[in-house]
Amino acid sequence: MTTVIYDLHTHSTVSDGTLKPAELVRRAADQGVNVLALTDHDCTAGLTEASAVAESLALNLIPGVEISVTWGGRTVHILGLGINQEEPGLQAGLQKLRAYRDERAREIAHGLQKAGIEGALEGASCYAQGSILSRTHFARFLVAKGYAKNTQAVFKRYLVQGKPGHVSGCWTTLEQAVTWIRQAGGCAVVAHPARYHLTRSKLVRLLREFKACGGVAMEVVSGSQPPEATALLLGLAREMELLGSCGSDYHGPGQAWVELGRIPPLPGSCKPVWSLWQ
Ligand code: AMP
Ligand code: MN
Ligand code: MN
Ligand code: MN
Repeated sequence: MTTVIYDLHTHSTVSDGTLKPAELVRRAADQGVNVLALTDHDCTAGLTEASAVAESLALNLIPGVEISVTWGGRTVHILGLGINQEEPGLQAGLQKLRAYRDERAREIAHGLQKAGIEGALEGASCYAQGSILSRTHFARFLVAKGYAKNTQAVFKRYLVQGKPGHVSGCWTTLEQAVTWIRQAGGCAVVAHPARYHLTRSKLVRLLREFKACGGVAMEVVSGSQPPEATALLLGLAREMELLGSCGSDYHGPGQAWVELGRIPPLPGSCKPVWSLWQ
């Protein structure tokens, strides 16, 4: 029996990745990925290009998106997998989030300017090749200008809570995001639950509310989490009766996070999200 390799969380230049959608799909195929989801932040503009290339390579492309949500005063990411990108309600919602991103980018730049960093908005925009402006683009600008040695360091110094370029997000609600995804025929998945640094009871509350909104799955394996988080998340998925998903959260060669498809397999004791598609 050959193992199917799933990578259900990745980014292209449409959001804050560094590979074009076509390049990402080719690289995934080279890495032996069989089922790939492209999940750009708040935007689906890469899906048509990605699907065309995937088809030519006999790779199964799952159309996806990663939606920015504000929940309990923090930012939480909800993936939509298997969405119909034409769905008007979803597109109108994503459009609003992108407009908010532009507004937030101006605030970030203003904060950085007060800390003596000029031209951050224009600088970050130069790194944004797609339809959204993300903190990642600010990070690339700041690293290029020598404000820190790498993206991780620059986030810590400038872009997180309490730092000059931090703006508390004001995204959409959990309920709204899940509703857009479901209206578009997709399934909603809580992305990288270990990255929110929530206590176990807060995380349970998030998952419970998510389920009540119609969410069905959570990432149990993520390229952006320490391996020891997997056991905790596996237990939660089982307890909460949520399906499990796995994804690298790939952003491009040389970026933080792991290589495409190079994530541990989803533990067998967890019902996979792809059971919905079979
Ligand atoms: P945004 O949605 O614009 O707030 O940007 C969030 C993105 O920034 C995430 O999707 C990651 O790609 C990136 N990011 C967040 N924290 C870090 C970090 N500590 N190091 C590197 N990249 C990060
Ligand atoms: Mn990102
Ligand atoms: Mn995310
Ligand atoms: Mn992501």
